[in-house]
Amino acid sequence: MIDGTGAPAREADVSVSDGRVVAIAARSARPARREIDARGQVVAPGFIDIHTHSDFTLPLNPRAESKIRQGVTTEVVGNCGFSVAPTLPGRAATLREYLASSAPWLTFRETTFGDYVENFPATAVNVILQVGHNTLRLMTAEMENRPVTAAELATMERLLQEALAAGAWGMSSGLFTAPGSYADAAEIHALARVLGRHGATYASHVRDEANSVHEAVREAIAVAETTGVHVQIAHLKLSGMDNWGGAERLLAEIDAARRRGLAVDCDAYPYDTASNPLRNLFPRWVMDGGIGSMLERLRRPEVRTRLRGEIAREGLNNFGRIPSWDAVRVAVAPRLPEEAGHTFGDIAHRRRVEPFDAVCDFVIEDRGETRILVTSMSDKDVHAISATPWVTVGSDANALATSGITSQGKPHPRSYGTHARLLGPFVRDLRLLTLPAAIHKTTGAAARALRLTDRGVLREGAWADIAIFDAERIADRATYDSPHQYAVGVSTVIVNGDVVIDGADHTGALPGRLLRRA
Ligand SMILES: [Zn+2]
Repeated sequence: MIDGTGAPAREADVSVSDGRVVAIAARSARPARREIDARGQVVAPGFIDIHTHSDFTLPLNPRAESKIRQGVTTEVVGNCGFSVAPTLPGRAATLREYLASSAPWLTFRETTFGDYVENFPATAVNVILQVGHNTLRLMTAEMENRPVTAAELATMERLLQEALAAGAWGMSSGLFTAPGSYADAAEIHALARVLGRHGATYASHVRDEANSVHEAVREAIAVAETTGVHVQIAHLKLSGMDNWGGAERLLAEIDAARRRGLAVDCDAYPYDTASNPLRNLFPRWVMDGGIGSMLERLRRPEVRTRLRGEIAREGLNNFGRIPSWDAVRVAVAPRLPEEAGHTFGDIAHRRRVEPFDAVCDFVIEDRGETRILVTSMSDKDVHAISATPWVTVGSDANALATSGITSQGKPHPRSYGTHARLLGPFVRDLRLLTLPAAIHKTTGAAARALRLTDRGVLREGAWADIAIFDAERIADRATYDSPHQYAVGVSTVIVNGDVVIDGADHTGALPGRLLRRA
């Protein structure tokens, strides 16, 4: 048993009753309805995927297959500023269009956050909901590139307050892309003060992860400093060739803030490749006025000339300079599904056009709904961040399944592999960190960052979220070419005392709960 605190493994029997861990003892003499022989395996707290977008797929895949099979028992959703609620009257189509590149198969309807919480489906995993700042801004100032008015800010504060009262854990922001990128620090601080009044948290996809990543991380830290609210910096990375090798310096900056006593945490996924809507690689002004304006703009030769120049000088928005368009490949393209897996180098060659024009044409043909993978990080930085014991683990990905509606395209393998890759190959083969340290990152450290007091550590009285796996076998199988493959090595997963993965099969049980702040 490895308890999630970072302490070494010890031999123990774990007894569970009524959804809780009731005893941990060297030898249990309790009579039990069922015994699971886990000799030779690791019994750990269920993993907490602290940064995900499974709100886009759990209604379609409530069994949370790709996550639960890795041992994930809790997912934090509503990240990067994106949430599917609240949706004000008359705004469902706008939100659908805005989120289609992330949630192509989801149905959008008008809803308050309260109704959204009430109607959230039963799922295999526990779920922590957040409300997205980009969604709040879309509901008030739409896609306009300007500061919000006092009245609009008041509306956003009211919507945030309603969401928090209805059960949202906190607010996420996505300052790297429109319309979140149109917000200044004062707007974020005003909303963070609302979070502070509710004891809620702030998670940020910071304003830039490439050439201005240090300034962007400082902007996030300043929210904790100014408002006292807990800040979670999402999927920490250094994107773009000009920034490779900077992980130690960036980690030192966050560590220094933590040592000053600021409530700052961060998370990361163990891959050198990111995933995003294709249109987000363009400078932010391209989306001014919304998707329709963007599509119209991209047809104009003079706009393409300006764009080509800006990208040549400054690199891609949020991702910086990449070696070539071969580093960008299509993940999911609703209108061009046969292109999934192809790079823009390939596509341009086949179409006999310049790669940059192939990208612009593709955005137009797929109406801005294409999702891509971009290989923009260095292994050295990914390893340094993954090896850091206080950096928690967030896949940044949806719960998918190898069959059904979510099995389409060539999505990022992190949906299937994040936790298994860290606990298997990163511990066993790369020896970046010890197994108890890796487990702590994805359990106890995550629970502490979330202020979750009764999960993330195996101890008497805690909720019985448990993952049992073979430390010699646990591994990711999903690859960029063949992403729809479940991780291996996890034999049993228990959520709130109910067995969901039993001998590597899904029992169909949906014992997850929507977790609310105490
Ligand atoms: Zn993000």
